[in-house]
Amino acid sequence: MKRKPDRKFEQETGSLEERLSDALERVIMAGRASFMKEAMSAGISAVQFQIIRVLGREGKAAVGDLARKVNLTPATVSDSVNALVEKGFARKEKDADDRRRVVVSLTEKGMKSVEAPQIERVFSEILGGMEAAEKLVLFRFLLKLILSFQERGIVQEARMCLTCRYFQPHVHDDRERPHHCALVDAPLGGLLLRVDCPDHEAEKDPSNALKEVDRFVS
Ligand code: SF4
Repeated sequence: MKRKPDRKFEQETGSLEERLSDALERVIMAGRASFMKEAMSAGISAVQFQIIRVLGREGKAAVGDLARKVNLTPATVSDSVNALVEKGFARKEKDADDRRRVVVSLTEKGMKSVEAPQIERVFSEILGGMEAAEKLVLFRFLLKLILSFQERGIVQEARMCLTCRYFQPHVHDDRERPHHCALVDAPLGGLLLRVDCPDHEAEKDPSNALKEVDRFVS
């Protein structure tokens, strides 16, 4: 039996846009709280924990690069790196590839503390159970979100194919892999676009890239 809608109740519920925005805010807050909890149990600050996570992924990085990655000033990151060195989680040394550069890397103690936080494990679990079409929509949404953050200066750097000078869109007559990375000379599909590429060289404007997400990611 079809029931008459309760307009007052539905009005109180709010629009779908409002609830999506609400839900996103809760995810952000939960992520922050989870990071804080993991950091506290390791005896470090949330920023120090973020730095450890980046170093766990990248192996080594200069302070300036770390600052861009965690979206904080080099001075703040430098203080946190010094604290991590003092606590035995990280070390600073001359880069073996470029002796003029000082890089930070993790010690054995630091490596042991980079286990994926609980929230990340939950993400993997949920994403693993999603259909390809759902993941496509989510991927597009997240790319748009990051590019919009970048456009407004909320995120300093996002090393994504869509803003890279080596990205050549729609150059191949191949529905699966129509794009190309000129640096590695390899075809790229929309779902293969990178979101944090170490070889990225910024060239394209995030505002223009934002307009092309739906066309490039399909
Ligand atoms: S260098 Fe990296 S970011 Fe640039 S197009 Fe190639 S894969 Fe994408």
